[in-house]
Amino acid sequence: MKTYKTTLNHFFSLTEALEQLPSIGKKSAQKMAYSLSVEDKYLALKIAHAIENAIDYVRKCSLCGGLSESEVCEICLDPHRQNGQLCIVLHPKDIFTIEEIGDFNGKYQVVEELEAIDFTAFKKYICENKIQEIIFAFSPTLANEAIMLFIEDRLQDMDLIFSKIAQGVPTGIGLENIDQLSLSRAFSSRVKL
Ligand SMILES: [Zn+2]
Repeated sequence: MKTYKTTLNHFFSLTEALEQLPSIGKKSAQKMAYSLSVEDKYLALKIAHAIENAIDYVRKCSLCGGLSESEVCEICLDPHRQNGQLCIVLHPKDIFTIEEIGDFNGKYQVVEELEAIDFTAFKKYICENKIQEIIFAFSPTLANEAIMLFIEDRLQDMDLIFSKIAQGVPTGIGLENIDQLSLSRAFSSRVKL
């Protein structure tokens, strides 16, 4: 296998690269590498081109931290979304999940790392956008509860209502794994902190 592997250098480089993707195991990586390099070269080029474009154009919105292809995302720029609500999520992909339901009409803030939050800038943003309610859309884990309390504590001197999406959202799983109806219900029956 050792020499065989060396002579198939490009195939195995592709396999090893794919294997580094989240939730891709060795077998899936090999299957994908085979499909891309042998079965459907056209699809492979299409994917390569899409990856190149995504690398060039996709970035994080400088205001909310959600995904954007411009400096500031569409949601942050939308004047119709100034309803005084700010939904805090833990990952940019959570915005997709909530937007798919279509019930929420406020703004977002992504908090991936607590240490990275600039509270002075955050408070300024809250004032400028006339935010009245902060909604935490986190799945209920002890660690997430601690994040909520920390943020609430740091914003205590502001006139804000703090709420979190209702329980019934299962413990310890990501927002994207909750069915839309449950998440929609969790939003509408959110509870005050
Ligand atoms: Zn934004």
